[in-house]
Amino acid sequence: MKITRLEPFILHVPVTNQRIADSASQITDWGAVGTILHTDTEIRGYGYTGTLAHIATDRLIRRCIGEAFGELLVGEDPLSVRQLWMKLYHAPAIRWLGRAGIVQMALSAVDIALWDIKAKAAGMPLWKLLGGSETKRIEAYNTDGGWLNFSEQLLVECAKRAVDEGFTGIKLKVGSPDPHDDLDRIRAVRQAIPPRTRLMVDANGRWDLPTAIRFGRRFTDYDVYWLEEPLWFDDVRGHAALARAIQTPIALGESLYSPDAFAQFLDAGAVHFVQPDVTRVGGVTPWLQVADLAHAYRLPIVPHAGDMMQVHVHLAFADRTCTLVEYIPWLRVCFDEPATVEDGAFKLPQAPGAGTTIRPERMVRFGIE
Ligand code: MG
Repeated sequence: MKITRLEPFILHVPVTNQRIADSASQITDWGAVGTILHTDTEIRGYGYTGTLAHIATDRLIRRCIGEAFGELLVGEDPLSVRQLWMKLYHAPAIRWLGRAGIVQMALSAVDIALWDIKAKAAGMPLWKLLGGSETKRIEAYNTDGGWLNFSEQLLVECAKRAVDEGFTGIKLKVGSPDPHDDLDRIRAVRQAIPPRTRLMVDANGRWDLPTAIRFGRRFTDYDVYWLEEPLWFDDVRGHAALARAIQTPIALGESLYSPDAFAQFLDAGAVHFVQPDVTRVGGVTPWLQVADLAHAYRLPIVPHAGDMMQVHVHLAFADRTCTLVEYIPWLRVCFDEPATVEDGAFKLPQAPGAGTTIRPERMVRFGIE
């Protein structure tokens, strides 16, 4: 099989709640920037990365895919995906400016498309190609009702609705100008949901170490399951100090671009729940490496859903120990087989591929020039 051409795309898909915010950003749309890989067969691969739907920077990713990676991919055998990943990552001109940011997100989209082709060629869903188990239960925790711009009353309503729908976990955004307001919101939601429902909080890198220690110590009162991205994303030493100072486990990884970065946090004892994002870390290929690394430290993988779950559900069913995946439904309308939760757990994907095939009419409706 040979890659014949790339068809890069940008989609901007409205979020379900019109406008949502965390401590780092506020958005009205989620961006899916990626490519269709055409081959000399009927098989086409789809891959994308997740963005804040900012047109100018989305165009940079799209050009990186089409122009920088395109010439390295056309004529190659897409089934040699791990070898191709090495070719793309280590091409001198790419490595000169790559390894993180736009280039790594573009590489993520391409690698996902390659794995999509490989699974379709095998006639299997990706989880099966990777040796996964259909008997696993992958629970969903709901992030889409816990935004920082929601009133306390709306937070409580969303939390109750999620529990009624069967979700066994809920995540709240923190990082308000006054952290006491965050504690009030956590308390209100904790009192409104069953004691066994997982309650996670996510600061999106907003706090400094003294704030995180002071308020993180209060989280034990509300049985907070994890504290996510409390500090600046690259601050290994700070997270390690925090992990020693508070009882609530630390979750992070969505802002890390390489297995090397994960290795630093793991080695320092700075993370407990490991959250690689397949759309940022460089695709399925390095995601698997991060998962193996976490296993070596006996720590759980809980993917961050920059892909809006489509690929991560496959990876979760394929992973040896992953039992929990984030639920955000914004891109569900785009797919023939959208990631679906029933009774609090993800349904097993059935269609061959990585779950990334986008319906042609959605390409037209949400596509950006
Ligand atoms: Mg997060």
